[in-house]
Amino acid sequence: MKSSVDYDVIIIGAGPAGLTAAIYLKRAGITPLIIEASAPGGTLNKTHKIENYPGYLDVDGTTLAFRMYSQVEALSVPFKTEKVINIEKENDKYAVITKENKYTSNYILIATGKTPRKLDAKNADRYENKGISYCAVCDGALYKGKNVAIIGGGNSAMEAASYMSDVASKVYVVNRSNVLRADEKEKEATKKENVEVLLNKKVKEVLGNTNQVTGLVLDDGKKIDVSAVFVCIGQEASLAYYQNLNLDSDNKGIIVDGTMKTNDDNVYAAGDSVSKDLYQVVTATSEGAIAATSIIKKIRKSNG
Ligand SMILES: Cc1cc2nc3c(=O)[nH]c(=O)nc-3n(C[C@H](O)[C@H](O)[C@H](O)COP(=O)(O)OP(=O)(O)OC[C@H]3O[C@@H](n4cnc5c(N)ncnc54)[C@H](O)[C@@H]3O)c2cc1C
Repeated sequence: MKSSVDYDVIIIGAGPAGLTAAIYLKRAGITPLIIEASAPGGTLNKTHKIENYPGYLDVDGTTLAFRMYSQVEALSVPFKTEKVINIEKENDKYAVITKENKYTSNYILIATGKTPRKLDAKNADRYENKGISYCAVCDGALYKGKNVAIIGGGNSAMEAASYMSDVASKVYVVNRSNVLRADEKEKEATKKENVEVLLNKKVKEVLGNTNQVTGLVLDDGKKIDVSAVFVCIGQEASLAYYQNLNLDSDNKGIIVDGTMKTNDDNVYAAGDSVSKDLYQVVTATSEGAIAATSIIKKIRKSNG
């Protein structure tokens, strides 16, 4: 592990929340470090079409991700592609630890979003990356002309169904309740000829050979032949890497106040990682801006 480097602020996660915070901080003369485990843009990269983001009538997730990141890149914000595995308090600083390095800072902004909820069915773990996926946009092309299943009935599931209906031969939507809770507009995906909705059904077992999913057994005993299963049943906060900070949280995420501050005075959180009612790009960017502005005020106050 390399020696530590000091920053005023470390932003963990480069989704819409983290990228927006970086823009506000850098423009206020504070250079943060962004640490991102994967590609800048976060969940946007896994989203086919972004709805409800003002100014963009019709934009795909990767384009919006690229535009947000370009804005940050133009401001020369330091960016490390590393996964944070731990945060420790060291005197009045924070040590942010990745596999490769240790970085220290006075303030932390947690903007790491959520991780997809796993499918609770026999053999589901065994077929992770062997046909079980959480991202139709990322993995869908592998199943061109094949049968696939989408699990879930919310907007994400409908979006995956719509995307896969143009790629796969047949798309089953398996939903455990008898109504799809997606918006009316998103539900239009189910009207496509090759989309079949199975309501009031749970997945009991994932079938497959050594390398690949071959089907699903549902709780009524029905068997469907599919080569891939896209699990879209919501997301949950990933608490593991910041558990040493003892942040207050509930089952939706980290609890913050109106300034996006957690119960630790110098740790802020924004976007999908916080407990709230609306998980969208517009709220993530707005909370990133509020968190950054709150940190800027504190830094200026402490500098006199
Ligand atoms: C399928 C789908 C469709 C959606 N469609 C829309 C839509 O149309 N309109 C809309 O407004 N919203 C939509 N959303 C919601 C929107 O994508 C999220 O609300 C938004 O991306 C949240 O931004 P964020 O910055 O909080 O988190 P994210 O975008 O999730 O970014 C978090 C980042 O943190 C990184 N990270 C995680 N853990 C670590 C770690 N330990 N170390 C370093 N980095 C880490 C991740 O790699 C990721 O890049 C959709 C979501 C999904 C899943």
